[in-house]
Amino acid sequence: MLARPIRSSLWAAALVLSWQGPVTAQDKPGGAAGSPAAARAPGLPGVALASLQEAYRRDESGLVAQDELDPLIHPDGGGACASAACVDLMQALRVMAGLAPHPNPHKAALAAFKAQPDLLAGRVSNEQVERLLRFYQAHLGHARIGIDVLSAPNSGYRTHTPTWDEAAGPDLGVAPRRAKVLSYTVSDSTGKVHGRHFVLMKGQADGKIEVVDPAKPGGDRQYVPDFKAGDKGTRSRLFLNNPAGIPRTGGLVYEVNTVFTVALLDEKGAAERPAGAANSVEHITRKLDETARALKGTDEFLDPRAWRKKTAAFGLPGLDLPVEYGGSAWPATKMVEVFKRAGEHNLNFRDVVGGAHVRPLLKSADKEVLDIVRQVARGDGYIAIAITEPDAGSDIPAIKSTAKKVPGGYVLNGTKRFNARLNQATHVVIFTQGTTGERGKLSAFVTPIDAPGITIERFKAHGLTGNSYGGMSFKDLMIPEGRLLGKDGQGMHIFFEHFLYWRLMQAAAALGTGENALDQMADRIKSRHAFGGPIGRFTHLQQPLGQYKTELRMAYALAREAAERIDRGDYGTETRALICGIKAEGVEIALRAVDAATRAYGGEGYSDRVDLGDRLRDLNGLRIADGTTDVMRMEVVRQTFGPEFWEMAIEPKEKK
Ligand SMILES: Cc1cc2nc3c(=O)[nH]c(=O)nc-3n(C[C@H](O)[C@H](O)[C@H](O)COP(=O)(O)OP(=O)(O)OC[C@H]3O[C@@H](n4cnc5c(N)ncnc54)[C@H](O)[C@@H]3O)c2cc1C
Repeated sequence: MLARPIRSSLWAAALVLSWQGPVTAQDKPGGAAGSPAAARAPGLPGVALASLQEAYRRDESGLVAQDELDPLIHPDGGGACASAACVDLMQALRVMAGLAPHPNPHKAALAAFKAQPDLLAGRVSNEQVERLLRFYQAHLGHARIGIDVLSAPNSGYRTHTPTWDEAAGPDLGVAPRRAKVLSYTVSDSTGKVHGRHFVLMKGQADGKIEVVDPAKPGGDRQYVPDFKAGDKGTRSRLFLNNPAGIPRTGGLVYEVNTVFTVALLDEKGAAERPAGAANSVEHITRKLDETARALKGTDEFLDPRAWRKKTAAFGLPGLDLPVEYGGSAWPATKMVEVFKRAGEHNLNFRDVVGGAHVRPLLKSADKEVLDIVRQVARGDGYIAIAITEPDAGSDIPAIKSTAKKVPGGYVLNGTKRFNARLNQATHVVIFTQGTTGERGKLSAFVTPIDAPGITIERFKAHGLTGNSYGGMSFKDLMIPEGRLLGKDGQGMHIFFEHFLYWRLMQAAAALGTGENALDQMADRIKSRHAFGGPIGRFTHLQQPLGQYKTELRMAYALAREAAERIDRGDYGTETRALICGIKAEGVEIALRAVDAATRAYGGEGYSDRVDLGDRLRDLNGLRIADGTTDVMRMEVVRQTFGPEFWEMAIEPKEKK
């Protein structure tokens, strides 16, 4: 991804001057995935890459070379090294997982560009690389991956990742079922930065590391790691030098900025998960059922904090959080199933599964902020999110809360209203205008809920009563520098990404609530007699069972499709339309199903002898919370039929 003007000369220099030594015995398998070497240790990245390189040298299959993708990248965007490195890593992961190499990796790379068109602009961020790696998850069969992104303390590419320990430096070791991609910054002798490049780690021996460079994937390159001290340790910076006797022209300097570690986490890799967090949906939903049964009739039944504490032992609060923070890194495809089961019990349980509103904190590199993620994973922390204000809800960019930059952090002022969880939460994520005040450039911060300057108010809500409902004002609330999530002005980006996932999970929970209501309705119309027979003989009471069951199933099929897209890292237009549509229609279908069931229960349905009245009120809340049905439908139109529909609705107001 180096700037184009220098790229060709740089590569030329690299090709001539980089060490092109012989492959070692370890890395010299006899063929591709089915080779004798791969059969001996197919899980080692070096062996997997060597087998792919052999196929590439034979007939240019197996791996994608960077220059094959370069013409697709915007001329000002540098090269396609990140995209080529990621698709080549996908191939290595396939071999490591015991699969045959993808027969057409170029097609997979093109599909990635279609799903994530921002890659075509070049100069990808760490976040984009991570997303791209998640996209390739779909090509790994049943194998699941966990991704760990570790940045150099001085890296300009750091977005939301932890930095390496400056005393120890980054771990460059490879291990079975665990591959690494290194990104290094290329600068010249004057210190001018030309861009960054990505290579795949093959192994290390004799003080050298061996890598596969997507610029020329058929051969190996060797580098000598050279650590330099910083303020906090002797291994703060890591440079990659050529081996002795192999000069590098132009005095080009390679400094590692990021280490991406991708581990295969399928059933065989379950040991990487925290103890007790078993890996199957069946196990987790069975434990969830047991907890619901145990708490039924107690004060703790709807209490999200009590749930989180009790269920941490089997991993429920950390299911969708990264492994390095105590979670299980479950993909969205598994999470929708757990949310649906939670909703079958009670829609309030939408708040007991997974990290919920702690997920935006993963945008931070701050150790204290990431420690809050750990608190949530172990069932201690619980996060509220405050966006809506007295005068702005659907129109999020119109919020009035402010953030002012001061030495050491930010000072926040504002009022929030109609926010859930404030009385239960340990921390709250607050959205404000960014420090520039430019409309739409919001910022997001996290703070302890009891921070000086915060006053909480509470309203009685009609549903979803397991959590509080109310508002908060904050006056001269001091937020330390590290508690800004992402960058100043990136708040809308954080909002869209987080709420796309969250809306999908909420819709899955609503579908579960609808399914449960239909089961109750079926029991009722079989057993209730009127006018000399079961009321189920009135076919108008059977019709909703047939209609809504199918509509709920259709919505769930779409929810699974959307989850697959999220797991591929596809947050594009089609995914947005799909998820906003599922949030709208999933909740509306569930409402109709619960309404039909309530009526079938007659007077009893209006009493607390059955829970259907509560579920109706819960769903009425969810049709507003996390984006109203109307706004979600507008979003489907905007994403599917073009922005002019949104503009024609919004513009007249702005032209006044
Ligand atoms: C149970 C519950 C929990 C909630 N939890 C939280 C929380 O934790 N944090 C938080 O910040 N907020 C929370 N909210 C607030 C919620 O996000 C907002 O109420 C919601 O986004 C709507 O905003 P509003 O109330 O300002 O309504 P408005 O935006 O004023 O909308 C009023 C009506 O106008 C319609 N409307 C507005 N704009 C459009 C449009 N462009 N196209 C079509 N129709 C439109 C809406 O659909 C609605 O019917 C919660 C709400 C509920 C009910």
